[in-house]
Amino acid sequence: MESYGQMITDMRSVFLSGKTKSEKWRSTQLRAIVNLIEENAQKICDALQADLHKHKGEVIITEMELCKNDAINAINHLSEWMKPEKVAKSMMFMMDNACIQKEPLGVSLIIGAWNYPIQLILLPMIGAIAAGNCCILKPSEMSPKTAEFLHEYIPKYLDNDCIKVVLGGVPETTALLKERFDIILYTGNSMVAKIVMEAASKFLTPVILELGGKSPVYIDRNIDLNVVARRVSWGKFINAGQTCVAPDYVMCPKEIQGELVSCLKNAIDDFFTKDTKSSDSYGRIVNSRHFGRLQKLLEGTKPVIGGESDETERFIAPTVITDVQLSDKIMQEEIFGPILPIVTVKDHNEAIEIINSREKPLALYVFTTNKTVREDIRQKTSSGAFLANDTVVHGGLCSLPFGGVGNSGMGAYHGKHTFNAFSHSKAVLEKSLGMESAMSLRYPPYTEAKLGWLGWIMKEKIKRKGIMSFFPFVVMGAMFGLLFKTVGVTAAETDRNN
Ligand code: NAD
Repeated sequence: MESYGQMITDMRSVFLSGKTKSEKWRSTQLRAIVNLIEENAQKICDALQADLHKHKGEVIITEMELCKNDAINAINHLSEWMKPEKVAKSMMFMMDNACIQKEPLGVSLIIGAWNYPIQLILLPMIGAIAAGNCCILKPSEMSPKTAEFLHEYIPKYLDNDCIKVVLGGVPETTALLKERFDIILYTGNSMVAKIVMEAASKFLTPVILELGGKSPVYIDRNIDLNVVARRVSWGKFINAGQTCVAPDYVMCPKEIQGELVSCLKNAIDDFFTKDTKSSDSYGRIVNSRHFGRLQKLLEGTKPVIGGESDETERFIAPTVITDVQLSDKIMQEEIFGPILPIVTVKDHNEAIEIINSREKPLALYVFTTNKTVREDIRQKTSSGAFLANDTVVHGGLCSLPFGGVGNSGMGAYHGKHTFNAFSHSKAVLEKSLGMESAMSLRYPPYTEAKLGWLGWIMKEKIKRKGIMSFFPFVVMGAMFGLLFKTVGVTAAETDRNN
């Protein structure tokens, strides 16, 4: 642990040597990440099976393909992302070169959580490398087999001088956080996020916090509840409910609750059979602490689906509870397990009130065929993401930023957003030494004449909106028309006279 300081100093001098800035280095590392995943697919599946009883299908969809595609997307767009971006210029800067140059921040620290332990380390690392940074990766100790895999295989594929994996739990992370980093990306709960932010504040290190919370679902009347139930059940029960953007609770009008429950039952049976415990597609709770926490949430409830559990296997069946009150224990914290409470509401307006009375969620799901309901909820609430008529899948579209707002996090990543998050947008203005007489207008002594000219050059005009924005073109068109007409008439008269 004492060697972290030296490790970071060494890494910073490699960074300052400029090694990680070249496009070739970045692209070689990104290609190596693709190879790392492709050549070790079985080992990754085995590690996740051991840590979380994750089925290969889930590992492919939610971990390996996601990371591979993100790396390939970065390889394909790297040159374009690295290019300086030209910006609009006012009259004062007409003759100058003005652009935004993305530059790497330096040495980054990426702290991962246990529920998607490959994705939560590799996705931030892909963007950090694409942006030209060095990385220290700290996988979660709660998914130890996956952490060991990353510790053993990342050095075999990636540049060891610039990318390192540190194993350990609280003491190791605490020791790391004493050091100076240029950016920290932390994924996990909001209590630890405060510790991370406090440590970062000592060096004014920027932080990206990927947190969780209670992501609500609103289900409207007059909708195909079979489809809705399948999409909600999939998002809720993959990884046994241990997904940051899993639907946490459902709100729906009372009259559809009964039919929704029978559709949820059909979907669960379809996905995991009636004997969920023996289904290899269903996960397990990560450890006995979380198993105990979820059991406490179930105390005193009367599940209408599931409710069974087995401590020896840390198995909790997909569980649904109806007529839940907002004051119930299960509505006070993020569930992060396979329990789905249903709260009945009068209509979508009541759902909006409930959402707005709580912390801003990481994701908000709305199932409706009514455009007004959908737009109403989208416009009148705030959440990390808004998804209509599905759950969780927005995380698979890397052109969308993934992140929270308020208590669900700060900053966002995935795809180009990770590249941007790990870059500084440097303002670049390159002027010539010419035009000094025009430039002299800004120098003292100030005179009315100089100020008059400056005001004219510097003044921004409010753009006209709507039909009025065409007004200058109409006037110009009319003037040209008049001009041509006059010239035409004059020419015709001259012809006639000749
Ligand atoms: P965790 O226990 O794996 O902790 C996350 C990391 O923090 C680990 O690497 C751990 O070593 C470190 N850590 C724990 N305690 C610490 C301390 N006292 N000081 C310093 N470091 C410490 O994961 P977790 O917190 O149980 O994760 C679950 C939470 O994360 C949920 O709230 C979930 O919604 C959220 N989450 C969010 C995302 C996202 O992308 N927004 C993804 C996954 C999980």
